[in-house]
Amino acid sequence: MSDYVFLDGKYVPEEQATISVKTHAFLYGTSVFEGIRAYWVEEDQQLYVFKMREHFERIINSCKIMHMHPEYTVDDMCNITLELLKKNAPKVDTYIRPTVYKSSSKTIGPKLIGIDDALMMFTLPLGNYIDCPDGLKVCVSNWRRSDDNAIPPRAKISGCYANTALIVSDARLAGFDDAIVLKADGHVAEGSAMNLYLIEKGKLVTTKRTDDILVGITRNTVQELAENYLNMEVIEREIDRTELYIVDGAFYCGTGAQVMPIVSIDHRPVGDGKITETVKQIQQLYFDVVRAKIPEYKHWCTPVYD
Ligand code: PMP
Repeated sequence: MSDYVFLDGKYVPEEQATISVKTHAFLYGTSVFEGIRAYWVEEDQQLYVFKMREHFERIINSCKIMHMHPEYTVDDMCNITLELLKKNAPKVDTYIRPTVYKSSSKTIGPKLIGIDDALMMFTLPLGNYIDCPDGLKVCVSNWRRSDDNAIPPRAKISGCYANTALIVSDARLAGFDDAIVLKADGHVAEGSAMNLYLIEKGKLVTTKRTDDILVGITRNTVQELAENYLNMEVIEREIDRTELYIVDGAFYCGTGAQVMPIVSIDHRPVGDGKITETVKQIQQLYFDVVRAKIPEYKHWCTPVYD
């Protein structure tokens, strides 16, 4: 039996969830989206959605930037998510993809004003987004991140992912697992679709929220866990490309990537080329947190089933 999709205000079987070929978002990339994870915990017989509210707060901000006025509030979208998950009833780790999109099919032209907005949401099973147990070997992309004054990375705009697609594809064709991408001014922004943390003399270093990044919910989670649970200092600052070659440790973080160690950058080993202990510790803590195993952070995990 096919899964349900939320479309046009209704839950419909996937094969009935269709949109017009003239849909504005399809023609111009004018949609904003979120990628949310829900974790299945066998012992609890429960599915937990991680930081659901934060994702819908961010989609509302993306909507503001893109002149979108969805008819749903953050609470509405949380309720739709829980209802959709209950209907699809997965008992595995699951990815949730809400999309607010410019839905009109009556006018041609890439303007944002006066075009209807709609909400679509589907779910699918998702294990590891990148399967690299020994850590990632990445390069620095020769594509640049689009800038805040071009297609703002702060908003999760589908059209912006053409940039990501070029970055990932060329990195893979060159034999790397992923690529770190620089801002237009040559400083580091983030990974293809993840944020980046470096470890320098026991401190965590990451780019600033004004460095043309998507300000990741996982990035903020890692910062909070590092500062308040692991007693580590987190520094947000501009990062030079060549700093990447001399750091003690590095990892990606994102809803899809979760916490993913990086073991080499542009053929230079990160630290001694093995996954550093600190990264292992942060990764393990993150997995425990998202699976609702740490009482202090259980409120980040919304149970789906009664
Ligand atoms: N940067 C980009 C470009 C992304 O696509 C993502 C994935 N959503 C991230 C960072 C990480 O964000 P989050 O932790 O909120 O998933």
